[in-house]
Amino acid sequence: MSKRQSLVAANWKMNSNLASMKPLVDAIKAGLVDNNDVDVAICAPSLYLPELEQRLAGTGIAVGAQNVSEHEAGAFTGEISTTMLNDFNCHFVIAGHSERRSMYAENDELVADKFAQIQSAAMVPILCVGELLSEREAGLTEEVVARQLDAVLSKSGVAAFSQAVIAYEPVWAIGTGKTASKEQAQEVHEFIRQRLAQQDSTIAAGIRILYGGSVKADNAKELFSMTDVDGGLIGGASLKANDFLAICRAAR
Ligand code: PEP
Repeated sequence: MSKRQSLVAANWKMNSNLASMKPLVDAIKAGLVDNNDVDVAICAPSLYLPELEQRLAGTGIAVGAQNVSEHEAGAFTGEISTTMLNDFNCHFVIAGHSERRSMYAENDELVADKFAQIQSAAMVPILCVGELLSEREAGLTEEVVARQLDAVLSKSGVAAFSQAVIAYEPVWAIGTGKTASKEQAQEVHEFIRQRLAQQDSTIAAGIRILYGGSVKADNAKELFSMTDVDGGLIGGASLKANDFLAICRAAR
């Protein structure tokens, strides 16, 4: 089948503020006028989603969030619900980013709960999976990625992956300047697709699997050229409009 339409999603993490996001978003918008070839999303801190929604209205660039509560509503001080995200036209929500897994103790079951909650509110999860350096060195990459994937598969079933995006993000490559080689990325992306194909080959063929981990303007093209790499989840380089735009162009 022909390759899936690429998606490039910015993950601002806990960066930017109102003053800096406005010129950043406006420059991205201006650089993507007439773009029909690649889907683009910006996952911003939740506090800025109202501003982002307004600025992106009518552009085709999707609004995304970086995290959400697994609960629908209630006494969860400091948390943000899917209902709240829905108020701001949020389309994508990242689930299970490695920073949430490692710094906020989000385990596979919690990530699976978040994934299910996001879908129950009609938004699209971007499920992050990926191994630590020590796990790669111990030859455990596939085992770790399979475990992270299987937690979601057993809770939500393979059909749920027809409305989801997966991001393979080797933890050792995130924010480190070390990128997986295009062959390393392809190997794991293919493994993920095959694991889904064991349950449903159509869903496996259709799902977008993004690569994340120090994607930059100068390495994006070769990573995105690989058969099973359908775009990227971009951290650091998404904070500079020119860099992010170059990465979007590389995904065409
Ligand atoms: C990320 O946080 O999802 C990410 C890929 O970050 P960076 O591009 O900075 O490595």
